[in-house]
Amino acid sequence: MSPFDLTGKTAIVTGANTGLGQAIATALATAGADIAAVGRTPPVDTRFAVEALGRRFHDISADLSTMEPISRIVSETVDHFGGIDILVNNAGIIRRNDAALFTEDDWDAVMDVNLKTTFFLTQAVGRRMMEQGRGGKIINIASMLSYQGGVRVPSYAASKSGLAGVTRALANEWAGKGINVNAIAPGYFSTNNTEALRSDEIRSRDILARIPAGRWGRPDDIGGAAVFLASAASDYVHGTLVPVDGGWLAR
Ligand code: NAP
Repeated sequence: MSPFDLTGKTAIVTGANTGLGQAIATALATAGADIAAVGRTPPVDTRFAVEALGRRFHDISADLSTMEPISRIVSETVDHFGGIDILVNNAGIIRRNDAALFTEDDWDAVMDVNLKTTFFLTQAVGRRMMEQGRGGKIINIASMLSYQGGVRVPSYAASKSGLAGVTRALANEWAGKGINVNAIAPGYFSTNNTEALRSDEIRSRDILARIPAGRWGRPDDIGGAAVFLASAASDYVHGTLVPVDGGWLAR
């Protein structure tokens, strides 16, 4: 059997209606996993793609800017699929402004979705994985701003740097329990998240000039890393960030 096979596994993917989350859900389903898609916008296209692959799909409606949905996400997934094997913390937002003008709202909104809810959802899923006693795979979607400061996105840089720290902290605690906690650090991908950057001619040109691969990432470029970190192929990989960046960090 392929070490990348996910047949019989259940994966929760947050923010799976679009962009990288949609591509990750589809890649995991292609490898054999059933998908619980968590988010605030109905994941119509993702359901279609996953079911077309012959996998089961369940949509859990949740606003991840608060802690409210956390226990519901775990119980609904377990009721529907019988357990949880994989969690992909993909949902995230970005707010852009000069640091000198940055508001408390722009700070809190980003930290709540990208870091606070992500941590507590991971805690709830991790508890469930420990009860199940068959290990598990947790994948956080980090960023180049887990390594770098970025331009005019201080709360985003703080949240993604924090997420790298949380990834390592949880790996230290849970590796011995058979739960792998790792992250993917995407470079610059064409999604809603980067629409403002791509429509700024100068920023867009500067970013492209630094990417050795010579192009922005396409959502499909992320799936292989997600399948690797979700599968037995990564059983001895803990607490690391896997950059999928067209070579950006190597520059
Ligand atoms: P995107 O197209 O904007 O997708 C973001 C996803 O998060 C959407 O599904 C969105 O749902 C969901 N989300 C946001 N706030 C939410 C909330 N309060 N409750 C529930 N769901 C919420 O951007 P993307 O590029 O695919 O981003 C996915 C992840 O990759 C993010 O964590 C982002 O920071 C990270 N990332 C992206 C890039 C890039 O170049 N694109 C680079 C590095 C890291 P709605 O559609 O309902 O808003």
